[in-house]
This record gives sequence, C-alpha cells and structure tokens, in this order.
Amino acid sequence: MRLPSVTFRAFLLGSTLIFAVIEKIFPLYKGQLLFRREWQTDLVHFAVNHFIVGLALLTVNFAIHRLFGWLASDTIQNTVQSIPFLPQLLLCILCADLVQYCTHRAYHEIPFLWRFHAVHHSAKTMDWLAGSRQHMVELIITRVGVLGALYVLGFEKNVMDVYIVVVGFQAVFNHANVHLPWGPIKYVIVTPDFHHWHHSSDDAAIDKNYAAHFAFIDHILGTAVKGQTGFPEKYGVVGDYVPDGFTRQLMFPFRSRKDD
Ligand SMILES: [Zn+2]
Ligand SMILES: [Zn+2]
Repeated sequence: MRLPSVTFRAFLLGSTLIFAVIEKIFPLYKGQLLFRREWQTDLVHFAVNHFIVGLALLTVNFAIHRLFGWLASDTIQNTVQSIPFLPQLLLCILCADLVQYCTHRAYHEIPFLWRFHAVHHSAKTMDWLAGSRQHMVELIITRVGVLGALYVLGFEKNVMDVYIVVVGFQAVFNHANVHLPWGPIKYVIVTPDFHHWHHSSDDAAIDKNYAAHFAFIDHILGTAVKGQTGFPEKYGVVGDYVPDGFTRQLMFPFRSRKDD
C-alpha cells in the first residue's frame, strides 16, 4: 500500500510525537517499545482509516443527508440549537455515545458482526496506534449511525466541529499506554484504564465497558467491569484466532469459520 502525501506524514509525525511523549511521561507498561509487535499492521490501519475511509466519509456525509433527512424535525432541531454551546456539546457527545454504545454492543453480541469487531480486539499490545486497528466496514457503519443521529437532532456546526476533535482524541488516547491518577472522574468519562479493560481477555471483562466517551453509561446500564483493581493480565481475542496483517484482517470476517 502506498502511504503518500506530505499531509499524511505530517499527521503521523504529529500523532507519534504527541502520544509517544505522553506515553513516555505517564507510562502504564514502562518497558513497552514504540515499535512493538504488529506495529506495521496497525500503521496500515491508521493510514487507511484516516485517509481512504476519510474520503469515503465525505460520500457518507452526503448520503446521511439523503438517508436521514426525512427524519429531521424543525421543532427538535430548533430546541437543540437554542441550547448554549457547552451543554449542547455535552448533549451531543452523550447522544453520540448512546448510539455508539448500541452499535458497539451489537458488534459484541451478534456473531456475524463480531467477526468485524474482532479485528479491533485482536491487538495484543495497547498503545495509541492500537486504536487504529478497526475493520473499515465497522468504521463506516458506526460513523453513519452516529453522524446520522447527530444530523437528525440538528446540533450546530461549531458543536459538531468540537465533537469531531473530542472523538478523534479519545479514540486514540483511550488505547494509549498511559496511566494517570484519575480519581472519581473515571466513573464519569472514559479513560485509558476503562477502555483497556474493554480489551482484556480476562473472563470478568468480556462484553463490558462499551462506552467511548462517558463511563457512567456502562455503570448505569450494568455493563461496567466491576471489582477489578490494577490492569488486565492479557489483551486480545480469547483463542487468538484473528490473523496478523492488514489484508488478512480485512478479509477475516468473510472467511469460513472452519478456517479459524
Ligand atoms: Zn469492543
Ligand atoms: Zn478499543
């Protein structure tokens, strides 16, 4: 795969610098290398998810207007737009996370969908780059669902712009090899600690901690990992049946289960 443009390299360099520095200053696993096992696979996912799928999302954004436009109500949109910026932003992130929670849970509970999501869970080392490992079908479906809901509700453009920054940051940061003393805030927002447990292959953590922004959603709905202290012993899919390599992971959901 070609990893071309100056923009891409600048973006990659910027992300590497920012998150590698954060991971260096506040490491969870101190000896973990920047170029750990399977980093090449995740780098290709990073490139594809940010650029090729980025282009696809322009088309998806257009389609969202066509698909969900009939659902939009002026009354609802005017009410949402009358809310001041900060509470409107919090409401926007909450709505996005509720849709994301539902799609994420469906990916775990419906066997055919799990085959797509298993790619994301196949990372055995957690760091900022591991979050990029996501099957493009899953990425597109989740984005269409979330952006479609936000479009129907009519959030203002400046709110959506900040939401995009928040979702981009948390998608990377929640996977980072980072440990900070979060205190009680860990029950409110999703931290790397919270999402690391989502990736754990420990029995107590399977199908738990679905939220991407607000941890209280899982605490309220009874799907938060409970009673776990410290950090997981092991990450990855139980049975470790997802292959390494971008192309093999892209094809994995379409392969016969006998091949696992
Ligand atoms: Zn998951
Ligand atoms: Zn994840």
